[in-house]
Amino acid sequence: MNGRLYVRGEDGYEAARVGRVFNARRPDRYPAAVLLAADAGDVAAGVRLAAERGWTVAVRSGGHSWAAWSLHDDALLIDLGRLDGLGYDPDTRVATAGPAVPGGLRLAPFLAGLGRAFPGGHCPRVGLGGYLLQGGQGWNGRSVGWACESVAAVDVVTAGGEHVRADAEHNADLYWAARGAGPGFPAVVTRFHLDTQPAAGRMWHDTWTFAPGDAAAVLAWLHELLPGLDRRVEPVLAATRLPAVPLDEGKDHPGTALLLHTTVMAVADDEAARLLGPFDAGPPGARALGHARGRTTIEAENRAQAEQNPDGHRYAVDCTWSDAPAAVLAPELSRLWSELDTPHSFSIWYGWAPHRPLPDMALTVEANVYLATYAIYTDPADDERYRTWVHERTAALARHGAGVYLGDTDFTRRQDRFLSDAAYARLQRVRDHWDPDGRIASYLCHDPKALNAHG
Ligand SMILES: Cc1cc2nc3c(=O)[nH]c(=O)nc-3n(C[C@H](O)[C@H](O)[C@H](O)COP(=O)(O)OP(=O)(O)OC[C@H]3O[C@@H](n4cnc5c(N)ncnc54)[C@H](O)[C@@H]3O)c2cc1C
Repeated sequence: MNGRLYVRGEDGYEAARVGRVFNARRPDRYPAAVLLAADAGDVAAGVRLAAERGWTVAVRSGGHSWAAWSLHDDALLIDLGRLDGLGYDPDTRVATAGPAVPGGLRLAPFLAGLGRAFPGGHCPRVGLGGYLLQGGQGWNGRSVGWACESVAAVDVVTAGGEHVRADAEHNADLYWAARGAGPGFPAVVTRFHLDTQPAAGRMWHDTWTFAPGDAAAVLAWLHELLPGLDRRVEPVLAATRLPAVPLDEGKDHPGTALLLHTTVMAVADDEAARLLGPFDAGPPGARALGHARGRTTIEAENRAQAEQNPDGHRYAVDCTWSDAPAAVLAPELSRLWSELDTPHSFSIWYGWAPHRPLPDMALTVEANVYLATYAIYTDPADDERYRTWVHERTAALARHGAGVYLGDTDFTRRQDRFLSDAAYARLQRVRDHWDPDGRIASYLCHDPKALNAHG
């Protein structure tokens, strides 16, 4: 083995257990050992070792799962942090990336140098492993689709310790599961093969600031605009307490601001300005506190995301998809947004508006708008309060919901539907086939029998 194994109780075990977990709220779950794998051979050796010892296998790529899915009691945690290689084939325009590669921080600049792009996460440090397996909401997602739709193939180590490639022609059931099963994927991905796109010419933003009292008017306007927006236009309404929002002279920050931040990818400036035309007039019946529009870049947007999600903080997160009209959502969202009470906590309405059937892949739940809330704080004494708040308020919204996106969930507190019933049944068959002994740890949840039941 080229990597390093830390058995529980050994020096270095605790750093290996949680040192790469982004959320400072580290759960009390203790793997039997942690293997810092150096290469795919180590992953296979690790899977075989786990079988000998009777451990399950848990996996970590970028460590950005809010709920620290990589931490399972009595498992062998295989940390893939060193599997971070990048490659590109100019003939096929397919990039290869190790699962620990951060999509924004490393893949995006690597591809930009080649005039190519891939929809990495909005936050630059998210690891490709967890991000792509669960779907991946990235820049320009409304136009290019879920990031996992651009996964051409995966190299995996199976639960039996074999090296296998899965794509549309080979091991197609595993390839199907690799695009949406998230932590239920029954193997370990050691390399992704990614279809790339031409780099966009121009990115623009259009940013309006409103007071929270205008939530109903702004939401009504957005729900009206959304169906007619070009797919390259991505509107996000965020309730945020951060001070850096556009404010006209003489206007004060309202404490919690509603920031309508829309981005667009276009070939040139005039096209970007034209695509943002529907936002020119602003919402009828609401008074903007500030407005800014102009060029931006993915790097600048990534920086803003990283500032909103600082290191060293504790996070409690939940989400729901919804097809409900603005008038139904506005009272619940207004209540939730009025209760944000830490500098970084925020909550978003994201206009997704699915417009076509999804390809044949495990990811099968999406809806008109995406609603997610992020409680961000520093005191461990607040854990219970913020976790209860986030999941209770999201549960209220989810009464009008269509399910969740795995990326912003914590099923140890609130479970909801994340796959269609047919996809969930099919995933069980794929798991039974590829991992009959249940070697690879699956979804962390408080009620396994109610997994994928609508909350
Ligand atoms: C600050 C922040 C911003 C975020 N922004 C976005 C965003 O813009 N868009 C979005 O879609 N999501 C976003 N997320 C959610 C994020 O994509 C998920 O939490 C994702 O699981 C993180 O992937 P990871 O590899 O970093 O996480 P990890 O914690 O390393 O992995 C999570 C789990 O995924 C599975 N897994 C990971 N890698 C592998 C592998 N190689 N083989 C098999 N199973 C594996 C394992 O079950 C693992 O425990 C964000 C999260 C954070 C913390």
